[in-house]
Amino acid sequence: TVVTRFAPSPTGFLHIGGARTALFNWLYARHTGGQFLLRIEDTDRQRSTKEAIDAILDGLTWLGLDWDAPETYQFARAERHAEVARDMLARGRAYHCWCTPEELEAQRAEQRAAGKPVRYDGRCRHRDPATVPAGVKPVVRLLAPSEGETVVDDQVQGTVRFSNDQLDDLVLLRGDGTPTYMLAVVVDDHDMGITHVIRGDDHLTNTARQSLIYQANDWPTPTFAHIPLIHGPDGAKLSKRHGALGVDAYRDMGLLPEAVRNYLLRLGWSHGDDEIISDAQAIEWFDLPAIGRSAARFDMARLTNLNYHYLRTAEDARLVDLVVPFIEANTGKTVDKTGRARLLAGMAGLKERAKTLIELAESSAFYTVEPPFSFTDKAARILDGGGRDVLTALKPKLEAATAWEDAVLEDIARAHAEETGLKLGAVAQPLRAALTGTTVSPPIFEVLRVLGREDAMKRIDAAL
Ligand code: GLU
Repeated sequence: TVVTRFAPSPTGFLHIGGARTALFNWLYARHTGGQFLLRIEDTDRQRSTKEAIDAILDGLTWLGLDWDAPETYQFARAERHAEVARDMLARGRAYHCWCTPEELEAQRAEQRAAGKPVRYDGRCRHRDPATVPAGVKPVVRLLAPSEGETVVDDQVQGTVRFSNDQLDDLVLLRGDGTPTYMLAVVVDDHDMGITHVIRGDDHLTNTARQSLIYQANDWPTPTFAHIPLIHGPDGAKLSKRHGALGVDAYRDMGLLPEAVRNYLLRLGWSHGDDEIISDAQAIEWFDLPAIGRSAARFDMARLTNLNYHYLRTAEDARLVDLVVPFIEANTGKTVDKTGRARLLAGMAGLKERAKTLIELAESSAFYTVEPPFSFTDKAARILDGGGRDVLTALKPKLEAATAWEDAVLEDIARAHAEETGLKLGAVAQPLRAALTGTTVSPPIFEVLRVLGREDAMKRIDAAL
């Protein structure tokens, strides 16, 4: 069975490119009925942080990308990595190298001066240990083939050939006995039974080097799929300026995880012209050959449009839960039971009008406050410019409504407009100002209904 993995280095936030890599691995595992594993590559002790690990775990959880076994930590396996290096030494597939940094630098300078490619020249392959300077702790290097080529058969990039004289004897274990990234990745992927490595194409050269480590251990190489990086709308590599933010930033922008997921899926993978793809469809359709070969361009407007779609189709009760924290952050006040009940009753009308949870929070906050509340300048002008007279005359008629339903309330307002020679808008506007404190809202009879007779009257009284 298929086993995929996401192997982030916890040195920063979970950015959008990493999230897409995780999604593709997750989808491929779900599509094939296989397993998706998470490995935190925390071998770089200086740069790995607890905050970054938390951001990765939170981000994946928020996106709904569940992993099938407890996450593993690479650093904890350092002894196992060293053991593999020692085994390679014993089998003559690796060797000790005593070159000092000064010696290596001199070597490189010579190669540069001679116009040769700069690479380790393999001098310690045959070094007589007796000539080793005292006190130098050797590194362990891979004994790499110096002739022929290494071929990476990639599911996305096709066949990629590397001349072996370009791949030098890379370091497996440092002088202090700690494993290098190259060794750790291969040993972990092997031990975890990874069958498919799906990752950014910036790792393609690493793959050639890692293939040599697999070969030196007589281990089968996994199938590789290197996905093109994400570029900004201007075609340059995605940077912060383009919206290369952490997944948490997209959550804070008020985007729904399913919208981000759908967007990331379409970023570099396609199924005909389908834009909106449900999770079930994505799992059914996802396959490696449909991953594009050229860099995808990040486009915030498309992401927002998808979010608009998913907001409109999301369940009302879930949207209430999602929007309340945004409202509370804006107002600094807790939304109480009444507020939540109104939000739920009014959600059908509210969600049609918002592209993000931030917009939804702004347009729905009026349901969560009690009068007296403040009015926007426009709303205040409407009330001051004759609006209060309209409300004074209209209020007893509304109060006497035979049923508190949209249609009944609308009939009352229309009849009042006709009687007084006003346009319906001239009746509805002061009502909207009084009930919401603003001049934009869902249909005003819907707002009246959601507030209920008593609360609607309280708001009109407060405006008067
Ligand atoms: N830890 C590596 C990174 O964050 C990924 C390694 C891999 O996927 O093989 O770039």
